[in-house]
Amino acid sequence: MRIIESIAEMQQAAEGWRCDGKRIGLVPTMGYLHEGHLELMRSLRPQCDVLVISIFVNPAQFAPNEDFERYPRDLERDIRLASAVGVDIGFMPQVAEIYPEGYQTYVTVTEVAAPLCGRSRPIFFRGVATVVAKLFHMVKPHVAVFGEKDFQQLVTVRRMVQDLNMEIKIIGHPTVREADGLAMSSRNAYLTPEQRQKAVRLNQSLRRAQALVQGGEQAGEVILNKVREVLDEDNDVRIDYAELCDPATLQPVTRVEGPTLLALAVHVGVARLIDNAILKPTA
Ligand code: AMP
Repeated sequence: MRIIESIAEMQQAAEGWRCDGKRIGLVPTMGYLHEGHLELMRSLRPQCDVLVISIFVNPAQFAPNEDFERYPRDLERDIRLASAVGVDIGFMPQVAEIYPEGYQTYVTVTEVAAPLCGRSRPIFFRGVATVVAKLFHMVKPHVAVFGEKDFQQLVTVRRMVQDLNMEIKIIGHPTVREADGLAMSSRNAYLTPEQRQKAVRLNQSLRRAQALVQGGEQAGEVILNKVREVLDEDNDVRIDYAELCDPATLQPVTRVEGPTLLALAVHVGVARLIDNAILKPTA
């Protein structure tokens, strides 16, 4: 795997591949790679000629009180893991080059970025959309893949690509889970063994909600009460939000009458974990 750190070198290489008629695929990440990231890379490998991953912990999407400084990092391990799944290029730009002195341009997606995580992390999606747009200009991909674990991020990126006429195919990849159902996340590293056991309740609550819906329940409040009951808040577990919404617009819904997104954000110890499921009523 070739490592590229400079933006100019990345753009020059990408321009060259495009001139040679090569199809470029991109998996943007913040590093500290796990099997979820690696699955995204494996899925994109057969769909492109040059597979690029970016590793960049993006300060623009972290509020001052959040975990930018202590976000886990291990570049050497990331390079080893990405090489082993056949990644061609690891693009690892520096913060000072992405956001130089005087930087002042941001991408704001207004509606789909507003609810859910947008409410508890007001600058988050502005940071995400901005860095993803910048990475697209640097890597010039034909196709990029994003995980459904970060469902609102995927919807926001799709909206930006459509609204700004970017010629990039966006693929969503299903959530990759640990054996007990916990969605893989770099932030799971923050959990103590006891909190790790409690974290499994997120997925359990989604599955209980799914079972209720498949049993014919449509009332949003009944479903959300079950979710809250399974999450069982205590000193270590605190719900940020548990909401039902339309998977396309992310607007709230009160009855599950068609495919409905159940989205969760839960603080477990110092980790803020998110997970979601599309609830599908039986026909
Ligand atoms: P991150 O490094 O957390 O910013 O994630 C980089 C990409 O990997 C994003 O598109 C995430 O949605 C995706 N991703 C992270 N965890 C998972 C997972 N457990 N399953 C599927 N995709 C994931």
